Amino acid sequence: MSLKNLPKLCGENGCRLMAKHKGKHDAYPTSAWSFMRDKDKKKLNKAGLATPRGGNKGAYQNHVVRSNKVIIPYESLPKLSLSNYVDGYVIRLYPEQYFDSVGKPKTSFVSGTDAWIAIGENAFILYRTHEVLENLPPLPEWSIRTLEQDGKPVKKRGQEVKDVGHYVLRISGLGNKKGIIKGAAQGVFAPEYANREINYLCQCVLAWLILRTAGSPYTTTQAKHLQAILDREGLLDESNYEYKGLLRRGLCSCPLCLRFIDYNSLHDTISYAENSSSENAAEQIEGSTRSTTVNLFHLEPLLYSDRIAHTPINVAWGHHNCNAALGQRRCRSLAELIELDLKVGIITPEGIETFGWIADDYEMIRSPLGAVWIRISQDGIEDSFFEAEEDSHLADLSDEE
Ligand SMILES: [Zn+2]
Ligand SMILES: [Zn+2]
Repeated sequence: MSLKNLPKLCGENGCRLMAKHKGKHDAYPTSAWSFMRDKDKKKLNKAGLATPRGGNKGAYQNHVVRSNKVIIPYESLPKLSLSNYVDGYVIRLYPEQYFDSVGKPKTSFVSGTDAWIAIGENAFILYRTHEVLENLPPLPEWSIRTLEQDGKPVKKRGQEVKDVGHYVLRISGLGNKKGIIKGAAQGVFAPEYANREINYLCQCVLAWLILRTAGSPYTTTQAKHLQAILDREGLLDESNYEYKGLLRRGLCSCPLCLRFIDYNSLHDTISYAENSSSENAAEQIEGSTRSTTVNLFHLEPLLYSDRIAHTPINVAWGHHNCNAALGQRRCRSLAELIELDLKVGIITPEGIETFGWIADDYEMIRSPLGAVWIRISQDGIEDSFFEAEEDSHLADLSDEE
């Protein structure tokens, strides 16, 4: 089929330009989607940026590419594989995590299992309240964390730029005490991280999916270069996209609700007020009150884990509202659920009428006609409460007997 007449790529030093190109090699050519409109290019560029989470409060960097230094919360260390973060990391500790008492670090940081964590080298302390700053102040020899190049302070991160200092203040105002913001932003939210290669391939997949939206102003013949790049990475097999619900009958669809994605909805905006649950949206940008109808969508949620989550096989375009409804759950496709073979049905005197398939973690039910159900709370959150309920319920039942 069309795969046969894809152009050849250069391939030298991982170069993804067309064979026999002029000029320098480039492993990450955005020229693969240069035929697209500016607003689409912007959307793809944005997909390559880490979404600010908690923004300034957490000393996170805003509006930078995913392939950046990450902040690793000390408490999340056991879940992570530090070797994933090839662009660097810095461990964040709260004063309570580091200090035993005023001026005295916990023994584990001095001579124990945490002795490899060195404040000012691979770690920093984050102060968030006036109270903690007073009760567990920085050590006298410590300084505010800043950026330096050749011994001089600079504002922006860069190749030759070093982090110096030990702590950052992100203190909110309280009563007559003013807020204090001191110290450089330290990095991006670790679950948003992707190295340059992965980040680029995600953009390629997303560009390809834009091309497949309903009413897209592009044709596949314009995207030969893009297809060649995807093909070389094994990312052009449409059956994979259909299986996961990113494409339906060849058109881009929302992985959750399966409705076709209209090209214009990539750029139309909706107000958050239209959907009150969107405050929890995984992809919501802090401080912004509007979103496009369709946004970057991750099939597996971006959580602290030992794997990079923003990968070419985990990205899609999906409705903002579907994203919000999905929350931090994994989006399973209909095909996946059918494979699990756990049918759900309604018991009637005539028998059982099945209407869909449930995920083995009971988080989601899908009907073959397109409906989706998502679990919004779990059993047994308050054991004592449910036990009491159960007892009285049983009593009621026995009365009926
Ligand atoms: Zn080349
Ligand atoms: Zn949707």
